[in-house]
Amino acid sequence: MSKPVHVFNAGPCLLPQVAIDNAIAALKDFKGTGVSLISISHRTKEWESVMDECRALWKELLCIPDDYETVFLGGGASLQFLYVAMNFLEKKAGYLDTGVWASKALKEARGLGNAYAVASSADRNYCYIPKGYEIPSDLDYLHITTNNTIYGTEIKQDIDCPVPLIADMSSDILSRRVDVSKYAMIYGGAQKNAGPAGVAFAIIRKDALGKVSRYIPTMLDYRVHIDKGSMFNTPPVFSIFVMTETLKWLKAQGGLDAIHERDVRKAETLYAEIDRNSLFTGTADKEDRSIMNVCFVMAPGREALQDEFLAFAKERGMVGIKGHRSVGGFRASIYNACTQEDVEALVKAMQDFESLKK
Ligand SMILES: *Cc1c(COP(=O)(O)O)cnc(C)c1O
Repeated sequence: MSKPVHVFNAGPCLLPQVAIDNAIAALKDFKGTGVSLISISHRTKEWESVMDECRALWKELLCIPDDYETVFLGGGASLQFLYVAMNFLEKKAGYLDTGVWASKALKEARGLGNAYAVASSADRNYCYIPKGYEIPSDLDYLHITTNNTIYGTEIKQDIDCPVPLIADMSSDILSRRVDVSKYAMIYGGAQKNAGPAGVAFAIIRKDALGKVSRYIPTMLDYRVHIDKGSMFNTPPVFSIFVMTETLKWLKAQGGLDAIHERDVRKAETLYAEIDRNSLFTGTADKEDRSIMNVCFVMAPGREALQDEFLAFAKERGMVGIKGHRSVGGFRASIYNACTQEDVEALVKAMQDFESLKK
């Protein structure tokens, strides 16, 4: 192996090594069939057992109630933006505008009907989560983005909502227990915390569907995918396999409560250093800080050191800490597979850099 690295990529993300190792083995020989995972027929019992296991693990880990179905689809979270509007928008939908992804979701809904932002944090470059906004009772649904991957803000509690609640949880799914019954639907791309790119998940309360009058193209109709167990057409077998292996790892770690405790500890460790270190400052309001994506910049007056710190950290094996262009500075994505040791290596780099520059 090459030199040790600490991967803080925002997505596709770091995945547990055991999932990667099992994927390599299955690429060579899928479940003792002598055939590679990527050459098997998806209409075999060996494959169906993977689909069943994947669905069962989602259900178990997130305690998904029986009146919900989980489907696995191609097209990423971005195509889910359109799916949501197609399947749920009849008269009017509200969106909580908390960043780039939320705005993109709203844009897709606007293309199909009446949709608007109930509140926005654009006024301060999305560094906080709007609060105290009104949710009109005549909305078909309210759409929220629970974790804003680019800005490092997060809605950390399941909100009470008088209308069907739909959440993009791409980047904080499986980092905490969620009261699924509060949502009509939860969806996301797998590649932020659940698996590799190429598959999206959608957890849908079945009785929330079938309420729109428009024609829904077959491939965009959730009911079709539910009826066919996510196998209406060829599913992304490789991505689903690796996601299943990642879920198995998560269960072996003790499930969501255990991983949440670890995720919170990692985030607290890193935020504590950002707050202590005279060279750096956090960008998100403290109460809304994400436990998955930690955004920070050079402190006022020290901006000129940014590239130097990036190079310094890179030298120590830090990968993927450059901030998104719309925030600048740095972003460390500390998803489930990232360890406390990874975070401590970054903290140490920040401390050593401070000593050099004091
Ligand atoms: C990355 C991301 C998306 C887009 O995901 P794709 O799978 O690339 O389409 C949507 N929402 C959030 C919150 C994200 O982090």
